[in-house]
Amino acid sequence: MDHDKLAELLFRDITKTPEDYEKIYPPRDLPEGAMVTRMAPSPTGFIHLGNLYGALADERLAHTTGGVCFLRIEDTDEKREVEGAIPVLLDTLSYFGIDFDEGANKEGESGAYGPYTQSKRADIYQAMVKYLVRQGKAYPCFMSEEEIEAMREEQKAAGLDPGVYGKYARHRNLSYEEVEARVKAGEEFVIRLRSEGDPSKYFTAADAIRGTISMPENVQDVVILKKTGLPTYHFAHVVDDHLMRTTHVVRGEEWMASVPIHVQLFEAMGWPLPVFCHNTVLMKIDEETGQKRKLSKRKDPELSLEYYKKQGYFPEAVREYLMIILNSDYEEWRLADPLADYRDFPFSPSKMSDSGTLFDLNKLNDVSKDVLARKSAAEIYDFMLDWAEEYHPDLFRLFSGKKDMLLRVFDIDRGGEKPRKDLVYAEQIFGFIKYFFDEHFVYESEWPAEVSAEDRREILKRYIEGYDPADDNSAWFEKIRAITADLGYAVKPKDYKKNPGMYKGHVGHVSGVIRIAITGRANSPDLWTVQQIMGEQAVRARIEKAMEN
Ligand code: GLU
Repeated sequence: MDHDKLAELLFRDITKTPEDYEKIYPPRDLPEGAMVTRMAPSPTGFIHLGNLYGALADERLAHTTGGVCFLRIEDTDEKREVEGAIPVLLDTLSYFGIDFDEGANKEGESGAYGPYTQSKRADIYQAMVKYLVRQGKAYPCFMSEEEIEAMREEQKAAGLDPGVYGKYARHRNLSYEEVEARVKAGEEFVIRLRSEGDPSKYFTAADAIRGTISMPENVQDVVILKKTGLPTYHFAHVVDDHLMRTTHVVRGEEWMASVPIHVQLFEAMGWPLPVFCHNTVLMKIDEETGQKRKLSKRKDPELSLEYYKKQGYFPEAVREYLMIILNSDYEEWRLADPLADYRDFPFSPSKMSDSGTLFDLNKLNDVSKDVLARKSAAEIYDFMLDWAEEYHPDLFRLFSGKKDMLLRVFDIDRGGEKPRKDLVYAEQIFGFIKYFFDEHFVYESEWPAEVSAEDRREILKRYIEGYDPADDNSAWFEKIRAITADLGYAVKPKDYKKNPGMYKGHVGHVSGVIRIAITGRANSPDLWTVQQIMGEQAVRARIEKAMEN
C-alpha cells in the first residue's frame, strides 16, 4: 500500500504538515516550572460545582507558578451543544473569581495558540491525521455502526473483548483500489488509529495527583476522526494540548480509563506526554441511606453553580471552601493566617485528593460564616443589594431605601476579637434581619409560657410608658428589672431556679416578652441595639401591636 497516495486521496486539500504547525505554535517562552493549564468544557449549558472545582485547580496551578491558564471550547459533539452556553459559563466562572489568561472569551477569543474552539480547528486535526495515514499509523474504516454492533455481539458471545482490533479491524488492510472505489462511490468513513499496542506490555505516564500511572497498552483501533471530519475527544485532546503547549492536564477521573489511548496517540505523533492531573468526583453523604455517593444533577440542587448565586453565597466563601477540599494542607494554612490572600497559598497537585472528595454543605456554611465575619458592613450591604437586584426586585427597592439602617444592622457585633458568625448567605441573611422591615415582620416564637396573657399586656404597657430612646443600655435594662420585680418575677434567674415557687418567672421571661414584641423572635442580637437602629416610632408601634395580641 502506498500510504502517501492514500493520504492524498483522503485529504487532498490539506497542505500543512505537523512541522508547519510546530512553527505556528512554538513552545511558550515561560520561566522554568511555569505550568500551562486549561479548562476544556463542552458547551452543554450546565456548569456545576465539579467544573468550578477543576477550574480552580487549573487557575491556581498556572498562577502560582507564573504560567498560563486558558479556556478551550470542546464542541465537536454537535448534539450536546446548547446556544448561549459560553457567555453563561464565562460569567459564572468569573463570578467565582476564575478568569482566564487566554482562549475563548465573550468577544470571541484571544491568544496566540488559537483557535480555541475545536470546531474551528478541523484543518489542524486533519493535517495531523493525514500525517498518521502517511506513516501507515491510521487508516479509513467504512464499517457501519450496525456491522460493528453485530460484531460486538459475536465477540461477547465467544467470550472475547468487544471492539475493533486485530483481525476484527476489518478495514485495516484494504487495498488502495478498494478504498478509492469506496471513496469515489461516496461511502462515508472514519479514520482509525492502527494500534500496535500489546496488552501484555505496560506503559507509564506521570500523574501529579496519583503518582505514576501504569496500565496495559491499548489494543483497540480507536476512531480519531469522525465522519464529520471532526476529531474524537481522544485525538482533539492530544493535538490541542500539544499545540497549545499545555503542561498539566487537569481533568475528571472518568478519563483515567482512556489514558492508554492518549499515550499511544502522543507516541504515534512523536510528541512528549503532558503531566496528567486526574482529580476526583465530588461525593456527598446521602441523607436517606447515610452512604457516600456522587453528587447528582437530578437529586442535588447544590451541584449547580446557579444554586449558590441564587441563594446568595459570597463567591469568596464558595471558593474558600473549594480550596479546603482541593488541597489537604489549606485548612491548616488558613488557621495560621485567617487574613491571608488565598492566592498566597502554595498550591500543589500532590496534595489534591485522589479518591472521592466529600462535599458537605454544612461545612461550606461554616466556612461562609468565617468569611462573612471578616467583611465590613458596607461590603455585606453592597453584596445584598446586588443579589436582590438580580433575584428579588422587591427586596432591592427595600434595601435601597434603607441603606443607613442596614449598615447599622450589619454592623452589630462586627469587628473586634470575636465577631458574630451568624451571617451565611444572602437568602439566610435576609431571613435573619427581616424583622427590621414592617412588611416582613411576623411572630416566629411563642410567648414565654411563664408569663400569663394578662401579665404580658401589663409588661408591655409599663415598658412603653417608661420607654425613652435616650436611655443608655444599662438605664434601659434597669427599667426592665423594675418591671420584673414589681410584677413578681425574679430579677436574677438563679433565684428563680432555686425557689421556683416564690416567683412567676424571671427577668429573662419578662425581657423575652419585650424581645418577641419587637423582633418576633425569642433570640435576637442585643435588644437595646436593635431598638436604637429601629428608631422610637417603630419600637412604639411594635409594642402597641403586641398589646393587641
Ligand atoms: N470536554 C471534556 C469534558 O467536558 C474535557 C475533559 C478535559 O479536560 O480534557 O469532560
